[in-house]
Amino acid sequence: MNHLLLILAFFMAHNAAFTQENTKTKKIALVIHGGAGTIDKQTLQGDLEKEYIKTLETALLKGYEILKNNGNSIDAVEASVNVLENSPLFNAGKGSVFNNEGKIEMDAAIMSGSGKAGAVACVEGIKNPVSAARAVMEKSNHVLLSGKGAEIFAKEQNLVFEDSSYFATDFRWQQLLRAKELKRIELDHQDKSDTTGNIQQIEQKYGTVGAVALDYNGNLAAATSTGGLTNKKYGRIGDTPLIGCGTWADNICAISCTGQGEFFIRAVAAYNAAARFKYKGGSLQTAICETIDEDIKSKGGKGGMIGISKDGETVMLFNTKGMYRGAIDENGKIEIKIFK
Ligand code: ASP
Repeated sequence: MNHLLLILAFFMAHNAAFTQENTKTKKIALVIHGGAGTIDKQTLQGDLEKEYIKTLETALLKGYEILKNNGNSIDAVEASVNVLENSPLFNAGKGSVFNNEGKIEMDAAIMSGSGKAGAVACVEGIKNPVSAARAVMEKSNHVLLSGKGAEIFAKEQNLVFEDSSYFATDFRWQQLLRAKELKRIELDHQDKSDTTGNIQQIEQKYGTVGAVALDYNGNLAAATSTGGLTNKKYGRIGDTPLIGCGTWADNICAISCTGQGEFFIRAVAAYNAAARFKYKGGSLQTAICETIDEDIKSKGGKGGMIGISKDGETVMLFNTKGMYRGAIDENGKIEIKIFK
C-alpha cells in the first residue's frame, strides 16, 4: 500500500513539474485591430488620436490580463473585442454604422483553434454581438444564426440588450445622410473630400474590430465584430461572420480581417492566408501578405488582416493608408500604431 502511495506521489509531482515547465516555455500574445483605411493625421484631429490609442491599449490590457493569468485565448479575444464594441469610436456594437433603412444591423464571429466556431449576422440590439457569437458556439448546435432568430437565441442566453439610442451616434448618422446623397454604399469613415460614387476606386476607412490570441496552453482564437457598411442594403451580410472569410482559427494560426467584405468573401481571405501558411510553410507574415496582394489588392479590394501563429509570430498588414492596430507580447510590451 505504502509503495502504491509513493508511486502515486511521484507521478503527481512529476506531472505538476511538467505542467509548470510547459507553461514557462509556451508564449502568450494578443493582436487587435480597429479597422483600416484612409486614416491620416488630418482625420484624427484634437484629442481623437489619443482617444483611439487609449481605447486600443485598454483592449490589449484586458485580453493580456486573462492570458497572463493562464486564461484561455477565447476569453481573451472576447474581452478585447468587448472593449472595442463598447467604445463609440469603432464600427462595432456602440457606434456601428447605419444601413439604408437607418437601422443598425451587426455581424460577429468567434473561432477557437480547436475548430469550434460561432457567429451572428444582421442582429439588432445585442450590446456585444461577439458574446452572442460565442453563445452560438458554446450553447447551440449551429455555427451561424441570423436576424430575429439570433436575437431570440441571445435573449434566451440572457445576453444584454440595449435600445437603438445606445448604438446610434450623430457621426454615423451624418455618414448615412452623406452616403444616401451620393447614392453609394460606404465603408466606415470614408474620406469626406471624396465625392466619387465608385467605392472600389477610393480609399476609405473600415471600422470593424478584431482580435487574435495565443494562450499558455498553445490554444489559438480569433474574433471579429462589425456594423458593416454605411447605407448597406437591409439584410446584407459581410465577411465578418462568415467562417474562413473574415475570421479563422485552427491549431496553426488565427486571423481576423477588416475591409470591403465582398472582396474578403470572394477570396475566402482568412482561410486563404491560413492555408498558404499551413501548406506552403514560411512565415505567417508572408502568407498574409500574399493573400492581401494576390487575392484582395489585385482584384481592387482594400483592407487589412491581423494574425498570430502557434509559435507566437504576430502580423498586422493592410493595403490602405492606415489601420488601427496593436499587439502585446509575453512581457506586456505594447505596440500600438495607426498610420503606415
Ligand atoms: N468587413 C466589414 C464588412 O464588409 C467592414 C469593415 O471591415 O469595416 O462588413
